Formats: sequence, structure tokens, C-alpha cells
Amino acid sequence: MTSRLARALAAAACIAAVTWSATAEAQAPQAQTPQALVQQPPPPFSTTKVQGTDNVYVFRYQGHQSMFVVTSAGVIATDPIGFQRPQAVKAYIDEIRKVTDKPIKYVIYSHSHYDHIAGGKPFKDLGARFIAHKRAKEVLTGLKHPDVVIPDEGSGHRKVYNLGDTKIELNWVGRNHSDNSLVMRLPKERIIFAVDFIPLEQVMFRNMPDSWPVEWEDSLQKVLAMDWDRLIPGHPGPNGRLGTKDDVKAVLGYLQDLSSETKKAADAGKCWDTAMTEVKLPKYEKWGNYKTFLPGNVERYCSYWARGF
Ligand SMILES: [Zn+2]
Repeated sequence: MTSRLARALAAAACIAAVTWSATAEAQAPQAQTPQALVQQPPPPFSTTKVQGTDNVYVFRYQGHQSMFVVTSAGVIATDPIGFQRPQAVKAYIDEIRKVTDKPIKYVIYSHSHYDHIAGGKPFKDLGARFIAHKRAKEVLTGLKHPDVVIPDEGSGHRKVYNLGDTKIELNWVGRNHSDNSLVMRLPKERIIFAVDFIPLEQVMFRNMPDSWPVEWEDSLQKVLAMDWDRLIPGHPGPNGRLGTKDDVKAVLGYLQDLSSETKKAADAGKCWDTAMTEVKLPKYEKWGNYKTFLPGNVERYCSYWARGF
């Protein structure tokens, strides 16, 4: 097998292993080569300008995505999404360079999980200043992963940065999918970027490691009270769509239903194993990963309601 073919097969396998929705770009007609007769995997990455803005972009690499904002004084980038794939970070920087040659001033981490924030060194080498919530900085400083750039700066509950003509607000809305998630809000553009704690039409990942049941609901209420129209999620929504406040309400409803149904099972002495088999939430059965991850989601709430942690 040629190394080129081996690489192509490895890339295809990698793409197939990731659950995500095709973006609008991915559905564009492919060049008519003989291979086009076979269904092609979507391109590994894409960059989309958010409609109605002239400065806000979504960079997607396979099943992860980041926001970047081009201001009059430089670029504000977010999550490097380069965990175990330095080629994603190279593509990210190349894509920014196709839009502007202005310096990349900031890289802001959404939260401390490696799949979103590892691999940022090429941004550091270009002189970017790294920012995260102060708790994320503490966590990452303790973990010392060799492929994670430790933030230069940790933000508190709310911090506003002005770069050129653009204002970005970093908000900590409490503990949810982690204890250090930031909601990045662009007040003028009425856009937020929030990762993993407001998935679009998806149940939560596995048994929700690092999560804070019930408190999570409070943070969603805080997001609902903020002033914005569109949400850029950290994983592409169905057909690449952005989120709205209705999505936040839907996630809140899911967590409330998951919590109350699992509490009933806990009160009946069914946690963990029986509850993980028996609790069903048919209202959400069309959501991504429902069959795979619902038992894990129940496991997390079983720990909470049956054991108090
Ligand atoms: Zn995460």
C-alpha cells in the first residue's frame, strides 16, 4: 500500500469515527471526478463567515469548531481544536490568513477540555496572548499537558476586552459541563460562542465527566437572560446551523427531564444499573447520540440523586 493511500484511508477512517452533522459547505457539489461516484466524506475543515456580519467566522475541523473575529486591530481567535492533530491548527491559522494578514492577538479558551484547546503552540509562536477563565488556568497549570499552552491570563466572572473596533465579553455563568466554561459574547453582533454545555439537539457526552448536575440548569438560565440572538456551538449543529435561545431552552428541558426521571429511579432504589437500562426520554430520541449516551447521562444523575455527588 502506498503511503499516500494509507494516509487517505486513515483520514477517511478518522472522519467516519467522528459523529457530526455535515455543514452546508460540505453539501456543496463535489468536483466531477470518477471518485465522485462513490460518496465522498465531507472535507475535513471549513471556514464560514457568520451571515449578517463582516467580521465573525466559524472555523470547523471535523467535528469541532471555533469562532474567530477579525477586528480593525487584529484577530481574536478561540479554541485551537488541535488535540492529537497538529494539522488542524495549521489549517486554522492558514484559514485566518486567507481572510486577513492582521496579527492574531488573542486565543481565548472556552473551557479546559483538551479536545477543544490543545495544540495552540503555533498561535503562541505568532505572539498571541492566551486567555481562559481563572479556574481553567488553575486546572491546566496542574495538569501540565505537554501539548496545552497554559493561559497567560485567567479571567474572573466577567471581563470585557476591546480590540480595535470590536468588543468581546467573557462571562462565567456558573458550573455546568465543567467548572470553568466561558460564554464569549459579541454585544454588537449579538452572537455568543459557548462550547459543550449547550449542544444543539444532542444528548450529553457519555457519563458527563466533570459536570455539575442541577447547577448546570442555573447557568442556562443565566445564558437565557443575556442579550444575544445566535449561538456558535463547539460542535456543528444539524446541517451546520447556529443555535438560538430555543436551543438553550431545549437543553434546559432535557436536563430537567433527565434529572426528574433519574431521581424517580434513584428514589426507587434502581441506581445505577437498572436505572441506566430503564430510564428513557422518548421526547429526545431524535437527538444525536441518544441511544449511545443516554445510559451514561442517567449514570451521572444517579450518582447525584442516589449518592449525593
Ligand atoms: Zn468539554
